[in-house]
Amino acid sequence: MEGAAASIDWLDRAATVKPRHELFIDGRFVPAASGLTFSDIAGRDGSPITAVAEGGTEDVDRAVTAARRSFDDRRWGDQAPAARKRVLLRFAELIRENRDELALLESLDVGKPIRDTLSVDVPSAAKTIQWYAETIDKVYGEIGPTGPDALSLVTREPIGVVAAIVPWNYPLIITAWKLGAALATGNSVVLKPASQSPLTALRLAEMASDAGLPDGVLNVVTGPGSVLGDALARHPAVDKLTFTGSTDVGKSLLRAIGESDVKAVTLELGGKSPQVVLADVGDLEEAASAIGWGIFYNSGQTCNAGSRLVVHRSVRRELVERISALGRELAPGEPLDPATRLGSIVDERQLEKILEYVRLGTREGATVMTGGRRVRAETGGFYIEPTILDGVDNRWRVAREEIFGPVLTVTEFEDEADALAIANDTPYGLAAGVWTRDVNRAHRLARSIRAGVVWVNTFDSSDITVPFGGFKQSGFGRDKGMAALDGYTQLKTTWFDLSGR
Ligand code: NAP
Repeated sequence: MEGAAASIDWLDRAATVKPRHELFIDGRFVPAASGLTFSDIAGRDGSPITAVAEGGTEDVDRAVTAARRSFDDRRWGDQAPAARKRVLLRFAELIRENRDELALLESLDVGKPIRDTLSVDVPSAAKTIQWYAETIDKVYGEIGPTGPDALSLVTREPIGVVAAIVPWNYPLIITAWKLGAALATGNSVVLKPASQSPLTALRLAEMASDAGLPDGVLNVVTGPGSVLGDALARHPAVDKLTFTGSTDVGKSLLRAIGESDVKAVTLELGGKSPQVVLADVGDLEEAASAIGWGIFYNSGQTCNAGSRLVVHRSVRRELVERISALGRELAPGEPLDPATRLGSIVDERQLEKILEYVRLGTREGATVMTGGRRVRAETGGFYIEPTILDGVDNRWRVAREEIFGPVLTVTEFEDEADALAIANDTPYGLAAGVWTRDVNRAHRLARSIRAGVVWVNTFDSSDITVPFGGFKQSGFGRDKGMAALDGYTQLKTTWFDLSGR
């Protein structure tokens, strides 16, 4: 934590911050066509932060029309690559220059500790935009090996109008993944942030515009996902839908697209990621810390959280005791206090859902090793203790369904084959952890676990250079890395006849 950030009184700042709260369409903030607004609530104390425009289908149409116009007249896609790169690099710089404001907005909206939004979320968003900016003048097309009588060019073209629907758990980071790759490849975007966390998306759009992004290339619509998300999925002028959120909503978007037209789709959905700990785990304290943080960080509201501990009988007791000790140490606190390491849950509905899963786990037969209770209720905010449910059978609902809170289930195994079977016995396939000092074993298990990311002797290490996304019901397509560019481009073959016929 930097000294300057620690000495700022973030509660004072929060009282004076002026969040943008209208839709951003065609380069301007505008109210919803209906004039309606909804109340954006702070997870930290349940208070309203601001009234945000409640867009409807008419607003989706306005935003898509602006995006379509900006794409079709090529005001962005046809600019010289070096010019587009300059705009996105400036956008990244503006994110860095406005770090404190963005971090404060994100912490207010989501309940994340200010120490994390300052040191992780904002820098990561800036780095992502910068990284994709730098790809713009480095990606080449190809010439097909079609022989001397033809010249066949294989070029990458932008897909067109991209609708990006994002969740509330990492609004800045996930939005930057989508904007970075979509804008770098020359698309126009309509962004729909989650209703719990619209504030940084609106401010980002303004910054992109200040950086020189032409009007209409990035639009933001706020309002209920069931209305706006569905309208985006069905809109004939949208060419691509990229969605990060729950598996149920992902399925409903696929249905909407299937019933309307053919669109390109990327889905980044839920997870129930196993942490497979073998008897030869090595340093137990190190593993306990990484496994604990792997579920408790961001109060468990992380798609790839390691929420299922699958542990060898010989090390189970000691490992669970150590993770429990970490859980007790990480008492949730005021997100705007720079000393706080765990903040609040995003809203009351999510808090209730988590508490209900803890009750369900006990009814199913689990033992609560630590946590399980709501705390700091007197603040009006939504806080829950880090929680461990021990003795869980992998067939129980608490081991199969995504809880999306700081709740770790513990399931024991005897031999490696059982461990693998339990790890893969889930509808999801987003991520996994493997803990062993035996490199052959580690490699064998990593190959056999059906997940988009497998971490070996670490967890949640990440970098913009490598792809991220799921197998099975965790979705398809990839964010991050060069792989994401495939999701925002289509290949065109242009064939020239050189035979002289
Ligand atoms: P969610 O309920 O699925 O919402 C995600 C987004 O979809 C929000 O913008 C939401 O808008 C919108 N939406 C809601 N209902 C919709 C509908 N019927 N049609 C179209 N759009 C709709 O998910 P969440 O609760 O925000 O986020 C948590 C989920 O996201 C978890 O399952 C988590 O695992 C997943 N996630 C996955 C990844 C990944 O990379 N795989 C990353 C982060 C999170 P409103 O807010 O207005 O309802």
